[in-house]
Amino acid sequence: MHGTERDAGSAPGAGTLDTIQPVAGLTHTSAELLRDPLIRLQAVIKVCSTYFDGVDRRELLNRVGLAGYATADGLLDGDEGADDQEGAAATERAAGPAARRTRTSSQLVRDAAIATRVKELHGHACQVCGTRLQYKRRPYSEAAHIRGLGNPHNGPDELPNLLCLCPNHHVLFDGLEIFVDVDGIVKHTHGGESVGRLRQHNGHHTDEAHLDYHRTLCDLNRITRS
Ligand SMILES: [Zn+2]
Repeated sequence: MHGTERDAGSAPGAGTLDTIQPVAGLTHTSAELLRDPLIRLQAVIKVCSTYFDGVDRRELLNRVGLAGYATADGLLDGDEGADDQEGAAATERAAGPAARRTRTSSQLVRDAAIATRVKELHGHACQVCGTRLQYKRRPYSEAAHIRGLGNPHNGPDELPNLLCLCPNHHVLFDGLEIFVDVDGIVKHTHGGESVGRLRQHNGHHTDEAHLDYHRTLCDLNRITRS
């Protein structure tokens, strides 16, 4: 913070700040680093875990315009600034993630062709549990984005950012309740128990960077919920 005088002490009062009108912000180096979405997420985690003991961190993120970090989808255009809507969404999340997904999925611009592609590659078998659900006499599965498409995640709508999941594991993955660890084992965010190895297919390469992003988002979920 530039502009404050040395004799203002380490914690100048609001009156002093009003008079001096100091300029505060990030250094150029920090701003450059924070262009990287993963580093930005790690910075949010660092700040949350270092400075806000005893504070409702979810509410804090909401108040400073970072509510998107509380969900795997992120916020989509039109969500931002709509506090009432976000409040309602939070209530829906508390009641069950499925309702929230219904709300957001209709707003997402998705490439239906790649969603179909990932499901066909895996023969509609869930990459976590292998379930191949039959629904209306057809196999049913869901394409899940690893790094959400909304703000602040801004994940790409492409095959390496998708998983083929059953509805149960899609809800858990989107709800940041399960993640894929570096060893390829799917684990619970809270407690860390193994769910099993993520099933892979030769024709479907998942981008480790996206899995890393989702994993880090689960780290934030662990902090903001405790
Ligand atoms: Zn499953």
